[in-house]
Amino acid sequence: MIVASERIPVAAPSITEREAELAAEAARTAWRGNHYAYNARFERMLADYVGVAHAVSVPHATAALHLALAALGVGPGDEVIAPDVTWIASVAPIVYVGAEPVLVDILPDTWCLDPDAVEAAIGPRTKAILGVDLYGSTCDWERLRVIADRHGLALIEDAAEALGSVHHGRKAGALGRVSAFSFHGSKTVVTGEGGMLATDDQSLFDRVLFLRDHGRKPGDRFFLNSEIAFKYRMSAVQAALGVAQMERIDALIDYKRAIFGWYRDRLAGVSGITLNAEPPGTINSYWMVTTVLDPSFGLDKFAIMAEFDKRNIDSRPFFSRLSSLPAFSDRPGAKRFITPADRGAEISEYGVNLPSGYNMTEAQVDLVCAALREILGGLR
Ligand SMILES: *Cc1c(COP(=O)(O)O)cnc(C)c1O
Repeated sequence: MIVASERIPVAAPSITEREAELAAEAARTAWRGNHYAYNARFERMLADYVGVAHAVSVPHATAALHLALAALGVGPGDEVIAPDVTWIASVAPIVYVGAEPVLVDILPDTWCLDPDAVEAAIGPRTKAILGVDLYGSTCDWERLRVIADRHGLALIEDAAEALGSVHHGRKAGALGRVSAFSFHGSKTVVTGEGGMLATDDQSLFDRVLFLRDHGRKPGDRFFLNSEIAFKYRMSAVQAALGVAQMERIDALIDYKRAIFGWYRDRLAGVSGITLNAEPPGTINSYWMVTTVLDPSFGLDKFAIMAEFDKRNIDSRPFFSRLSSLPAFSDRPGAKRFITPADRGAEISEYGVNLPSGYNMTEAQVDLVCAALREILGGLR
């Protein structure tokens, strides 16, 4: 049996002396009048990179989505359409604002929102469509925009997993009216914990700045709060890490794409496995190399993970259908618009994320692929 001599993690950041240097500099200097300097730099770099007017640094992507929904005025009695298969952080903020998530099916290739299912799910209470760019893929944003415009709905982009992806000339995060990024330690750009809200919409941006600092105007020094709101700010040391990461963003994305290429080349000849899609007109930044196995192998995602684990290799399960989780058992709306094909069921049951961290070398990818062939070889 192939066994890695050292445990291969499923995710790992790329941290250089530059990150350490800027974080230390922020710890020493980002105080008093200078306390927001690193955040402002990080925000400007991210907004320019993504190609939007405004970015706001926040503690995590969950906060960015919460602020986006609150700033759009989504609240009790409203419904927000979201994919059934995603990380729960995409959808939990819908509940935070008192609205109801309506979960719909995903597409078989990109694993993102199925526009037909979205259209079928629209009702009188629908307020917004929340698309998730899963594992680096991008949604069919053209169609989603047409649907949103026709029905007067807000379009929210969860780009937490897609920094650096491109969809018909626009970067992920610039495809909805407002978007969210995550800099959690497993993500493409890391600050430990961290997130960013991005938008071109000036009034939404103003509202977000107000809501994220306890309902007061930016610069207020008199503690004159006009609303009960939230406290969602990122610390300067985290922002400094983000600045160092954004200085290297092109190299980081190139490396993610190189890792995917190594996997693709080695797995091309293995039948019955599907990898992340990159439809014409898109560039996938491949946050996580993901494989969906043909059910005929008879191995679901947890069985594959156990096999990898025996070989000292970490992997992750494809996100489960939210509608199948105990957390959603008392939310009937969550089950309403799954198509009879229920594509999410098969994809999420037989999908596994392969090690995709910045520590991966071509030799390690080679070993993981040999292990996967070994695992599947015993079955065909
Ligand atoms: C990681 C992630 C989030 C949440 O990010 P946090 O920074 O942990 O809040 C949201 N949506 C998706 C799709 C994610 O992968």
